[in-house]
Amino acid sequence: MFKEVKKHKSGARTGLLNTRAAPVKTPFFMPVATRGAVKGLEPPEVADTGAEVLLSNTYHMHLAPGEKQVKNLGGLHDFCRWPGPILTDSGGFQVFSLSNIRKITEEGVVFKDPASGRETLITPEKSIQIQLDLSTDIIMAFDDVTGLDPNKDKVREAEAVARTHRWLLRCIAEFKKQTKNMPKAKRPLLFGIQQGGLDKKLRQKSLEFVQSTEVDGIAVGGLSVGEPLKEMHAMLEFLSPLYDPSRPHYLMGVGEPINMHFAIEHGIDMFDCVLPTRNGRHGSVWINGDKKLNLNNSGHTSDKGPIDKKCDCHTCQQGYSRAYLRHLFKMADPLAGKLASIHNLRYLQRICEGYR
Ligand SMILES: [Zn+2]
Repeated sequence: MFKEVKKHKSGARTGLLNTRAAPVKTPFFMPVATRGAVKGLEPPEVADTGAEVLLSNTYHMHLAPGEKQVKNLGGLHDFCRWPGPILTDSGGFQVFSLSNIRKITEEGVVFKDPASGRETLITPEKSIQIQLDLSTDIIMAFDDVTGLDPNKDKVREAEAVARTHRWLLRCIAEFKKQTKNMPKAKRPLLFGIQQGGLDKKLRQKSLEFVQSTEVDGIAVGGLSVGEPLKEMHAMLEFLSPLYDPSRPHYLMGVGEPINMHFAIEHGIDMFDCVLPTRNGRHGSVWINGDKKLNLNNSGHTSDKGPIDKKCDCHTCQQGYSRAYLRHLFKMADPLAGKLASIHNLRYLQRICEGYR
């Protein structure tokens, strides 16, 4: 499934991940297509930034249009016209961060859909079934996420990790049951998620547990949820010698350039984040040296230059000036967010390409 190709003295490594849709070189960054679309961009435009793998959110696709509907329409690849690999998260993070949680039990999580008010139960088995119906290539185990819980304490954190482990075993059992008739080359990959907040002992225990199972990849969850940068980096540094080198390592929800550099040099192979597109839609772009530039600033009113002279993205190569982009942002034209998103996505892809 995964092969480490080369280890660099910086700590970074390159590798090859074989998914059923296509093989992908690591490290890589996945643009987020929450509802099956990277907001405002067509798949060829996303691919043109260098992206090879897309991430879609199980929670959102389950609520609308529903996984059965997507299945009837040929699966998510066909539905959203992205032929390359797709990873779906398990829905855990969204259930815990976006919905109105009614009850967390050993069975699963009951939540209220904020749009319809409908109460829904998601269990580890259900999460796997939804992802298999969506027919994606990398499937994530359902986890108990505590990172965003304002009332979290050490006991709750330890409980959540233990539950995440029990749920992982249920996800693996369900995944095996559902995929037992698939030939190995046609089977999606299943990744386990390690948790533990900022508690090193708990993190290590969780990583060891996930790695003791037969999952195809290891994900680090619950980081970059508001903790200070220093603490997140310290945890990545602590975990880096503990990863199983024979499996891919995925740092969930991280996409600030400075964090990507740090993580790649500490053994991480995969990333996803809404930042490049969300920031882009608000006029915030990264330029050479990981600096941030706000295209809304009046200082760009007469600036004929592109966002970044050294950038090879479509937006910069096409010659759209900072002045023009500022004007579009001021007029609230959707083209503004699209062009800035393209630039930001390309910026992160170049970081990965640099290491590859
Ligand atoms: Zn650019």
